[in-house]
Parts: sequence; C-alpha cells; structure tokens
Amino acid sequence: ARRPLIAGNWKMNGRKADGLALVRALADWLAGEGAAHRDRFDMLVCPPATLIAPVIDALGGAPLDVGGQDCHAAENGAHTGDISAWMLKDLGATHVIVGHSERRTDHHEDDEQVRAKAAAALAAGLVPIICIGETEAERDAGQALAIVARQLNGSLPEGATGTNVVIAYEPVWAIGTGRTPTAQDVAEVHQRIRAEARGRIGDGADALRILYGGSVKPGNAAELMAIEDVDGALVGGASLKAADFQAIALGC
Ligand code: 13P
Repeated sequence: ARRPLIAGNWKMNGRKADGLALVRALADWLAGEGAAHRDRFDMLVCPPATLIAPVIDALGGAPLDVGGQDCHAAENGAHTGDISAWMLKDLGATHVIVGHSERRTDHHEDDEQVRAKAAAALAAGLVPIICIGETEAERDAGQALAIVARQLNGSLPEGATGTNVVIAYEPVWAIGTGRTPTAQDVAEVHQRIRAEARGRIGDGADALRILYGGSVKPGNAAELMAIEDVDGALVGGASLKAADFQAIALGC
C-alpha cells in the first residue's frame, strides 16, 4: 500500500516569525496528539526559499520533511535570482515542487523545462513533486485527460521510478477557488496518470504516489483521500494553519 504524503505548499507567504510558529506548532502536534496517527502518513512542508533554512533548524528532529517550491535545472551558475536543487539539498531539504501551475503561468514554464528541473532534483538526491493539471477551458472542452497525460509524459524525467518522484494532480481551476472536481473526476484522472506512468516506468507505477491538490480543506480531505489512486494531498491555503493542515492529515 502507498503511504499518503500530506504536503503543504506555503507559496509566497509568511515572514520568519510566521513560518517558525507554524512549523513549531506542527512539530508539537506530531510529538503529542498526532503521534498516534503518525504512521498513517508522511508530512512535508514547502516554505518560501527564504524560510527553508530557519524552518529546518527549528524542526528539532520532528518527523516532518521540508522541501522547496521550485529549482533551477542547473547546479549553479549565472542565473540571478534562481536556486538550484543542489542548494536545497545542501540545506537539508528532501523534496522540491516543480511545474506548479503558478510557475507555468507566471514564469511561462513548459513541460520541457519542468522535466529538466525534475531531472536536476533527482540528480541532487531530492524527490521532485511534479505538478500537472488542466485549466477550466480545457476541462470544459473535454480535454482534461489528454492534457494531463501530455503534461505527465512531457514532465517525467529519465530515471524516474515509482519511489523517487511524486506526481501532483492540481486542476488549475480548483486552486485557491474553493471548488473541487467530483470524486469521480478525480478518480478518473488519477487512474489515467497511473496508467500513463505504467507505460513509462512499468510496474514501478504501483508504488508511485499521486497527490491531489486544489482547495483541499479539513471538510473535504477525507472524501478526497478515500478515492482510489489518490495517495495524499498538496495543500496550499489550508497548509498555513497548523490546525487545518493537521486535520487534513487525519483525513487520510
Ligand atoms: P489551494 O489549496 O490554496 O487551493 O492551493 C493548492 C495548490 O496550489 C497547492 O500547490
């Protein structure tokens, strides 16, 4: 059985005091009330780059992983403002989100760039969380499955296995909107993602974790996490409140 991954994407939010308070609250919960449930899920937070080092320092051995929200495809060099996977690894990060729809939109990243970033993450020893998902217009046009399949095939790097990468299905229209697809639609897309992954990596696809993201909240987490082929959540807004993020973890 695949162990669910509950991942928080803090996006561009929080000063140092906010991030430290949040991670301390999660660490306290994991050591206290959450300890009894801890073997049901893996937990990850992805703070803004400025907070990765302080958050890791504040963990104090708590069973909580820390990841980046993006990385450059190169190890180092003349790329002002960018951060490499190798640098994230150096800080103690374990994962990095690549190809988030906000990066694909704001920074015009395409599948080829996302694949190069994911390959850089693998080379650095990080697990890339590769994000894919259709826009509302694409869903309305009946293209959701085709778009997701194309993005998956275009973004999955050489050397990917069922355990060294994670996929996150995030329908663009569900991000930050309070709207979610039906359970049937989520099931259909996740099943397709696993089938496409099987074509690329063979039976390793059975171990591949496919997260759902987009308006995951305490009130809908249990229903979403119960869907076949949903192996965790990539949570935006609700990951900024410890109590909400914890409640989502308890839903899996
Ligand atoms: P929300 O949970 O705020 O909808 O964001 C989802 C997301 O984009 C996570 O990466």
